[in-house]
Amino acid sequence: MSFSAINLKADQTVGGTALNMLAPALVSALGIAFFSQEKIDMPSPEWFEGYAIKNPKFPSILQIFGGAYISTYIVIAVFILLSLWLYFTRTGMRMRSCGENPQAAASVGINVFKMRYLGTTISGALAGLGGYVYIATISGGAAGNSVAGMGFLALAIMIFGNWKPSGIALGAVMFGFLQCISANTASIEFLSKIGLPGYFYNMIPYVVVLVVLALRLSESRRHTLRKGNEIKRYRLQSMAKLYFKYGAMGCSKTAQALITKFNYEERGMKVLLMKPSADNRDGVSIAKSRIGLSSEALSVKPSQDLYALYKDNYADCNVIIVDECQFLTPEQVDNLSNIVIDFNIPVLCFGLATDFLTHLFPGSRRLFELAESISEIKSVCRCGNKATVNARLDDDGNVVYSGEQVVIGGNNRYVAMCRKCWLNKKREQEERGLFL
Ligand SMILES: [Zn+2]
Repeated sequence: MSFSAINLKADQTVGGTALNMLAPALVSALGIAFFSQEKIDMPSPEWFEGYAIKNPKFPSILQIFGGAYISTYIVIAVFILLSLWLYFTRTGMRMRSCGENPQAAASVGINVFKMRYLGTTISGALAGLGGYVYIATISGGAAGNSVAGMGFLALAIMIFGNWKPSGIALGAVMFGFLQCISANTASIEFLSKIGLPGYFYNMIPYVVVLVVLALRLSESRRHTLRKGNEIKRYRLQSMAKLYFKYGAMGCSKTAQALITKFNYEERGMKVLLMKPSADNRDGVSIAKSRIGLSSEALSVKPSQDLYALYKDNYADCNVIIVDECQFLTPEQVDNLSNIVIDFNIPVLCFGLATDFLTHLFPGSRRLFELAESISEIKSVCRCGNKATVNARLDDDGNVVYSGEQVVIGGNNRYVAMCRKCWLNKKREQEERGLFL
């Protein structure tokens, strides 16, 4: 048993069950081999039988169990001594640590192997004592295969008691009581009136064990499930990132922002969609894509602290999506980055990288510096090359090559071009005498 549980790391309950099946058969086999009968008679000394075994002559103050076997007293004494040993002595505490926390015990220099062997040896001795008590008292001095599942019951009591002395004692008393009832159905008036056979009461302890086991199993399964969910949630949280998805004008950034919002909402998450305004206008604006999707968005001013805004008013949102994120100030990008870290929520920024003169927007620069995930949404120039420049057009459709990065209140049009077309256009306009 020790070898299988410690060296082979076998499940102790399974090992115990195997031992339970082996023992009666072994007794029968040995009985036939040595005494030509299927049991082994115990030698019972005179003093044991006649004087001590039943109703020992203790001073009357100790006669609390009228007519009890001496083994009752021994077992109670052993239980108290072992519990004290297990919880209040150095070796006992080490013993417990080797069962509950072997790695920690090993790390402070306790020989886990030795301790576990000591444990199984003591419990083996106690089991032997229990067997002897059973034979000497209940079965009248003969060991046959008549233990009637007592070993299983012991195993069940241990599981019922959750491997703790107090629980095991409670279980033992309870099951002992039920055994008594089953043995004495005939003599208890109200039970004999019910008329159920004694076997029924014999059955109760096993039914109780099954119920307790089933409950404990479902509880531990729920515990495992809960743990699993916590891990999953933790993984989900640890994946929160600041995303920067950039592209040239007309690359369907807003459409993608709105589709992303829809996808998150479909998964039951609450999305805060914001759109920085280039000026200090306040309120709600509309994020509208050219393919027809649109949604209300919170308009934020350049002066606004987004961290405080989220914390104070939108902390119930699990995701932040920013459209036109090039208009964020570098400070606001820092705000968003801190939200990602402190609140473990993803923040997705959609916008332009560069202005109409191919220079980075300050907010976009900060996003390149801070974002954990950067991806490009590609679009194509009229000539078929990749478009990278957001050319600004004036009212006549000419490309403008100078001016403010952000024109407030202006109604300029923008078009995405490749760098080659953008440069050729400039040279062609200059040939016509246009210096815009
Ligand atoms: Zn081109």
